Parts: sequence; structure tokens; C-alpha cells
Amino acid sequence: MIRSATESKIQQMLTENTGVHLLDSGDAYGRNWERNRAIDISEKDPVIIDEVIPDNQEVIVSVSTYHFLKEHLQYTDWAERETEEFHQFCKDRSESPQMHMMKKYTGLRVINTFDMDPPGGVLDQILQFIIYDPPLGFGDGLAEDMCRIPVDRSWILLQIHGGCDVRGGYTDAVVFEIESGGSEFILFNLPVITVECECGVAWSSYDGGRTMEPRYSVSMPHDWEDVILCEDEKEIYCANCGSAMQVSGAGLGSGEDE
Ligand SMILES: [Zn+2]
Repeated sequence: MIRSATESKIQQMLTENTGVHLLDSGDAYGRNWERNRAIDISEKDPVIIDEVIPDNQEVIVSVSTYHFLKEHLQYTDWAERETEEFHQFCKDRSESPQMHMMKKYTGLRVINTFDMDPPGGVLDQILQFIIYDPPLGFGDGLAEDMCRIPVDRSWILLQIHGGCDVRGGYTDAVVFEIESGGSEFILFNLPVITVECECGVAWSSYDGGRTMEPRYSVSMPHDWEDVILCEDEKEIYCANCGSAMQVSGAGLGSGEDE
């Protein structure tokens, strides 16, 4: 299988040896990077239903980090170059933790950390990132280069948690390009879950599935009982028409890869 530069880079991050942190209990529970090495990540289901709790009207799913990142990020020549710049920046300064250097490098203070648990996020691994715009003059000041600065793009400086304990075990930060406006899309989509049927029954949640609410539709009934839940098979069936319902998380559908 031929992978794009983006797919290869994400895969490389997800299988990067992030070490054995003193605080982690990975020997007992397994570390993400070790688990990822044992499987073909691209073959994973983009979205899996973890649990349905009818009494609370909750639908908890986990979304494949690989598929989510692949959907939104691009590892271009610019991104590769910017990644090198960042690592040179770290090298020239100190041994500070990369998270600290990410803030210094971009001049931004806020690091976005997306946990795997709702309501924060639904991905199967933790992300830590800063989204920023390419500075004016990027490209060594060469006129020819300057013209090619992708102005409609933002950059994301990203680390993926590869360990077991969240206090340590992040990958080396890598820069990817995202479409301008894509950052809002990513941040908005991360906690979104939808469950919908061809017949029109549709429910959504904006807090990682903790609060599912019917989507407005004049003709459709709006009771949770219209959605039959079949936990054993990890599928949700529609009571209105009997079909299996399409579940999506963070903007990715369950069967819609490639
Ligand atoms: Zn239906």
C-alpha cells in the first residue's frame, strides 16, 4: 500500500517510541505506541461505539486518531521545513520540555490539549497542539520563496500522546498544514457525535455524546425511544424504520474511510 507523506508522518508519530515514563503503568495496561506497532492503524474502524447508556441518552464513541488527523492535516514540504525550524529552535535554546518550547516558538500561550474522554474529545489518543499562522517573511526572505508562502493555510504544531500515563510520553512535535479556517473546524468537530438514519431520524451531541439531542425536523418524532439501542453488537438501530444507524464522531463516519 502506498501511503502519502501525510499518512506516513502520522503513522510514524503514532508508533514513535515515546519511552517508558517513570509514572506510567504501561507494563500493566500497554502503551499506545506499542499497541499501534502491533496493528495496521489504517485498517482500524474510523469510529467505534464504546458504550450506549439509554437511561442517560448517552452514546460514547471512540474515533481513530489516525483517521481524524489524516482527514485534516497535510505534511507538505513547507510543513517539513517548519518542523526542522522548530527543532533547531529547541536545540539552540535549552532542554526545556517541548510543550514550553511550542509556546515560545509560536509566541502563543495556549496549548490545546484534547483528552480522550468526553466532553473534551472523542479521539482514542490524546493530542496536544498549537495552531498558528505562518509569519510574514517566512521562506528565508527569498522573493521567489515568499511568493509561494501558503497564505490560505495555518500551521499546527502537534504532539500525540504515545505513553500510558498522561503526565509524560508525548511524541516529538511535528508541524502540519491545515486549511485556513480548518482550525475552527477541528476544534468545533472534536466533541461532536451524530447518530442518524436514512429515514430522517437524527440525533447529535456537542459534548462527546454525553447529551444527545434530536436534530430539528418537522416530520420526525423527537423521543429517544425512537432510537433502539443494541449494545452487544455495538450498533444502534432505528425504531422508526429498523435500519442500522450511521454513527459519526468528530466529523468522521463509521464506515466512510477512503
Ligand atoms: Zn430510520
